[in-house]
Amino acid sequence: MNTVAEHLSNLIRIPSVSSISNRPIVDYAGQVLRQAQWQIREMIYRDAAGIEKVNLIAAPPGQDPYNAAVELALMCHTDTVPYSTDWRRALEPFVADGLLHGCGACDVKGFLACLLTSIGKASSSRTDGLRLILTADEEIGCVGAAHLLASKSIQPKRVVIGEPTSLRPARAGKGYCLAEIAVFGEEAHSAHPQKGKSAIYRAARFITAIEEYSSLLAEELHPLFSPGFTTLNIGTIQGGTAKNIVPGQCGFQLEWRPIPGQAVGAVPTAVSEIADALRGEDPGFRYDLHILREQTGFESASNSRLVRSVETLTGRTATSIPFGSEASLMATVAEEVIVFGPGDMQTAHSNRECVPLAELDEAVNCLQSLMKKD
Ligand SMILES: [Zn+2]
Repeated sequence: MNTVAEHLSNLIRIPSVSSISNRPIVDYAGQVLRQAQWQIREMIYRDAAGIEKVNLIAAPPGQDPYNAAVELALMCHTDTVPYSTDWRRALEPFVADGLLHGCGACDVKGFLACLLTSIGKASSSRTDGLRLILTADEEIGCVGAAHLLASKSIQPKRVVIGEPTSLRPARAGKGYCLAEIAVFGEEAHSAHPQKGKSAIYRAARFITAIEEYSSLLAEELHPLFSPGFTTLNIGTIQGGTAKNIVPGQCGFQLEWRPIPGQAVGAVPTAVSEIADALRGEDPGFRYDLHILREQTGFESASNSRLVRSVETLTGRTATSIPFGSEASLMATVAEEVIVFGPGDMQTAHSNRECVPLAELDEAVNCLQSLMKKD
């Protein structure tokens, strides 16, 4: 039987960036699960490039993976972000100073290795319904998890999502939303600007008003976050076609991260009210808003059963996460969701990625306890 470090090293050696199929990782996990007599259900879809992606649902011996309603699901994505070509040892794991290095070491093959080690060791599993869920394409927008939810194949009461939190249970996370805004004007020769309407001037007034609105967002505070409010960013802008043409179009991207409890539609509604006000002074003002991502925040109560039991198991109080995860999606079907796992997200998505071996061992013990009861 492999140790957790052996499983993790094997998993790191299998490339699994989101652009390629996650089949080899799922096959590796499937083999370990089958050896432990777990029942497996694979759910295959093709991604936007036509590549096969696999979500896997596994049930312990005696339980049916086709039965959706369960007490607890332990969930983990199987893809990694791309790594830079000068990171020579991205797929060649090594240990130094008690840290195991490699691409995916903490995000999130470390947690997957802990799951695979736990199922080998757990002699008796809970009978009220336990599932292990592996998903594809988390790093490109939780696409695999969205497929899984759309298929209605899983309805867990409580969910643990594996992501690096240094083994602190995270019971809340901000959402993630992104929209593209196009502002329209009328082109004219720049020698006769009064013949046209500058889309860039219009966008400038629009953006200034959105910036003022963002300071109002800062008045609604959530104590678990720093900063404790919904943040908003206009990260890109482009407009116009030439220096001597009054610009006919200007577009920008608006990103916001809503605190839990705030409706995802709050920002688009405010933007629409700002546009109405601008139209009062400029009747020809016209814009398009196209939502690209719309993910709510999530929050499990501080006294919920899952939060309490992982706090007790780890001796660490619950916190929040500043990054996006599948928790937002799972919170739409589950009563309680936490994010939890070995390693620190501050090393993830970089060539410094690593995970402490001691945290892997601690996570295995914790997951084994959860597999028995919470
Ligand atoms: Zn991750």
